[in-house]
Amino acid sequence: MVDFTLSEEQEALRELAHDFAAREIRPVAWEHDRDASFPRAVIDKAWELGLMNVYIPERYGGPALSSFEGVLIEEELAWGCSGIQTSIGCNGLATTPLLLAGSDELKRRYLEPLVAEPRLASFCLTEPDAGSDVAAMRTRAVRRGAGYVITGSKCFITNGGYADFFTVYAKTDPQGGHRGISCFIVPREAGVVVDGHEDKMGQRASNTASVSFPDVEVPADHLVGEENAGFKIAMATLDRTRPGVAAMAVGIARAAFEFACGYAKERVQFGAPIATHQAIQFMIADMATEIEAARLLAWRSAVALDQRAPATLLSSHAKRFAADVAMRVATDAVQVYGGYGFIKDYPVEKLMRDAKIMQLYEGTAQIQRIVIAREILAPRDA
Ligand SMILES: Cc1cc2nc3c(=O)[nH]c(=O)nc-3n(C[C@H](O)[C@H](O)[C@H](O)COP(=O)(O)OP(=O)(O)OC[C@H]3O[C@@H](n4cnc5c(N)ncnc54)[C@H](O)[C@@H]3O)c2cc1C
Repeated sequence: MVDFTLSEEQEALRELAHDFAAREIRPVAWEHDRDASFPRAVIDKAWELGLMNVYIPERYGGPALSSFEGVLIEEELAWGCSGIQTSIGCNGLATTPLLLAGSDELKRRYLEPLVAEPRLASFCLTEPDAGSDVAAMRTRAVRRGAGYVITGSKCFITNGGYADFFTVYAKTDPQGGHRGISCFIVPREAGVVVDGHEDKMGQRASNTASVSFPDVEVPADHLVGEENAGFKIAMATLDRTRPGVAAMAVGIARAAFEFACGYAKERVQFGAPIATHQAIQFMIADMATEIEAARLLAWRSAVALDQRAPATLLSSHAKRFAADVAMRVATDAVQVYGGYGFIKDYPVEKLMRDAKIMQLYEGTAQIQRIVIAREILAPRDA
């Protein structure tokens, strides 16, 4: 039987995350957005409450939450501020390759410290000339003696300025295309250089940096999985993290929707609250329907992951749709506010800026559609 009722534990988890978002994230969200300042104190509190590193298995000290439980948390925290949630949730992205393919020793060495202290890790796939086209990456890893020497640069790396270690993709076989990429764990102290912090349109609380590896040496056992299996690991990682991005998009959309409903009931024009105008009601109605639908897709894809069912298609459905919903709902929320929606003293312009990144990172809206079409027309498992 399909049952959308949350268990008592899941309700409690959602409440915990919502309460944290309402009390610790919301009150500082607009300030961090204005100043583009890193929300270190909020991240530390999220870590203390157990709202970070939620997928780390118990044997490495983590709570081993399911993907479904993860998306419940991600929606709530992004409702508070998706920029802050991007920084809180980034360890999940950085550690998924390790969870999927790393050796027990590597997991122990890099996962346990994340549970012991509020430390951060980053996921380094994108390069200046290799965004959607991952196989075009130029970062090289060359086997030398008992290790690998990694040389190259990555851009747009979330939490790059604050990470203790980096999950890095590099070419081990430059002629091999996407089959020539390997994945490595690179500790910061190996010589990683952080080159800058991007000044962004939205999600300004999250740190986004360029990171370079000037002949950085790592031991051979820092290879995650097999040599030249990095592309597969990266794609499997994104299958697992896209439901969470979808849930974050739902969180942004919900926040914008709630602000719009509140404003529509208060703002009087032509002698009546604007909520009495059908044009406004229809915008509100469409927002509500789309948020419900986006949440169901996020939940469905997360449950597929928990059931170890094929999730590539469902994850891309969820990520693509929820991101577009966040953008539409936030834009319409600005419309409901009229001119005030365009002014920074009101909350919805931030949400519209924040929503845009949902259509860009972890695979753009176009790349999601490519994945969806491929999975339908020429599925990999067929
Ligand atoms: C705030 C932020 C945080 C990020 N965090 C991380 C991170 O932590 N780690 C990381 O590795 N990366 C991260 N990224 C990078 C992000 O994942 C990439 O920006 C994204 O994958 C797109 O790559 P690109 O920017 O090079 O765009 P491009 O790939 O150059 O795309 C430009 C446009 O062309 C379209 N396009 C490209 N190829 C095709 C095609 N075949 N068919 C149709 N359209 C196409 C795209 O959809 C897009 O509209 C982050 C980016 C931002 C902005």
